[in-house]
This record gives sequence, C-alpha cells and structure tokens, in this order.
Amino acid sequence: MILIFGAACQPTSVPSIPTLTTTPRPALIVRPTQMPRPVTPPPASATPPPPPTRAPQPTLPALPLETLAPEASPLPEGIFWLGQSTEGRDILGWRFGDGERQVLVVGGIHAGFEANTVLLVNELIDHFSGSPGDVLPGISLILIPVLNPDGLARGREIAGRFNGNLVDLNRNWGCEWSAEAVSNQGEVDPGERPFSEPETQALSQFIEIERPAAVLFYHSAAFGIFAGDCEGSGVSAVLAEVLGKATGYPYGEPFSAYRVTGTAPSWVDSLGIPAVDVELSNARETEFTRNLAGLRAVQCWLLGNPAVPRCAT
Ligand SMILES: [Zn+2]
Repeated sequence: MILIFGAACQPTSVPSIPTLTTTPRPALIVRPTQMPRPVTPPPASATPPPPPTRAPQPTLPALPLETLAPEASPLPEGIFWLGQSTEGRDILGWRFGDGERQVLVVGGIHAGFEANTVLLVNELIDHFSGSPGDVLPGISLILIPVLNPDGLARGREIAGRFNGNLVDLNRNWGCEWSAEAVSNQGEVDPGERPFSEPETQALSQFIEIERPAAVLFYHSAAFGIFAGDCEGSGVSAVLAEVLGKATGYPYGEPFSAYRVTGTAPSWVDSLGIPAVDVELSNARETEFTRNLAGLRAVQCWLLGNPAVPRCAT
C-alpha cells in the first residue's frame, strides 16, 4: 500500500485547535545521576559498523560535528533520559516550560546523514536555555536533538542514516509498516517488524505516555513540510499548514518522490496527535530563524492565536 502524506486540500480558514487531553501526565523517566552525556560522535579511533552495501554513498559537505553538543550545563529546565540506542548510547531530551500542551521536536532520526537537523535542535536548545520566556505560558517544549546517536557517530555518509542494526528508523513505525522499504538512495532495512528497534521503542512509548499536542520530526533536505497521515486520519494537515505559513516551507502536498512506509509522523497521526516531517532545504544549514518562527506559530496555534497577547502581532 502506498502511504500518502498530507491532505488533498488546504483549509482556507484559521486552523482549529486540537482537543487538549486531560489525562494526568505521568512523571518523565529521569536518571539525574547519568546526565548529561554530550551528543557527540565517539573518538575517531572507534571502529564504525560496516556500511550497508545496497546504496551508493553520496557526496555531502562536511559539518563541524564537534559543535553538535549543546551546552549541557547549566540548563534552566530538566534534561531527561529517553532511552538507549542499539549500540548503548544515551538518547536525551531537554524540557522547557511547564505548560500542559507539549510540543515535541525530534532531530537526527536520520542522524549523521542529516546532521544539520541535529545542529538545528541543538541551536534551539541553546536559544530556549537563554530565552526561556520564548516558551509561552501553557506550553512545554521538549527537544530531542538526536534520536539516532549511533548513526550520528558514523558521520555524513549514507550509513550515518541508520542505527546500530543498520535499520532506517523512519521506516520502523507501526502505521503501514512494510518489510520492503526504500529511501531516495534505494532499498533500506525497516527492521524485522514495527518497533523492532530500541530507539523507536523508546520514543513511541514516550509519546504514548506523554501525549504531546504536536510533534515535529526534522529531516534534510527535501524542502517541505509533510503531514503524517495514517490511513486518512488527517489530524496532521493543519499542523503542516501552521508551520508552512510561518516558515515559508512548502506544505499541503503529499510526499511523492518515492514510496514511504512505517514513518514516524504517520504513526503519531494514528494516535490522533498532529505530526509532521519538516524537511530543511539543504543538508548544510540549520535555517534556525525560520524554524524558530515555526515553533512560535505552533505554540500560538495551540494556545488559540490572538487570544494570547504575545501571539496577536
Ligand atoms: Zn530523513
């Protein structure tokens, strides 16, 4: 079955606000004695896993990977441990604000291959650490800079897209999962079954427990916003519209470059939670300013737009 992102048409009126869940929120999993471990590649002497043989290696510009680690201490809000990667690296998250509506931002699901998404989320961590007031009252912002630290450790090569089992973590989720999966580089391994990988297990459990109001997964570089859509549930198209208008990225069209299955935003959409893939326009820059504007717009949308004074302008 072909997975279709997005809605066939775009609403012309102001997007509606999703229903706020009132379920009490359990406490986050926190291991304060083990945090934080910087989100950096291991030493160059470490032996990387063998690269996959099915896809050619593209030529990509180098990124200054040593700058990937955010300033981890001191942080105004809590750092929490989400889980552990296939190769035993910690996956960490940063929380800003204490509002009931949570916005979850995930970078680095394709890790080193799309390392500018990790840089972007780290820049956002730096920003909200210095400007916590930019998280509006009523909102919590949860930033996970790299869901796939094993791939990040391999750097800017096609193997850097995959986790320690050489699985593509954006083909391993529980909506329209297929044993035959592809990317723009050809066939990829979607894992033995949905949620076969520790990284997707950790994040899916987190999302099911926390029930965020909106989820953004960052990628590069297909230049556009693609709404999760699990079998036509369609709760995510409005989030794509809000983000698209604020950032200037194209939105509203389904991803059609190739067949995609088992993606993260479509599974999140299946829970009734708006979710999108945001594809940066290139593989080098973070496009920080427009994405910060996008996060502001998402917050205002969740809070009711002009009803919030800081959203009125
Ligand atoms: Zn990607």
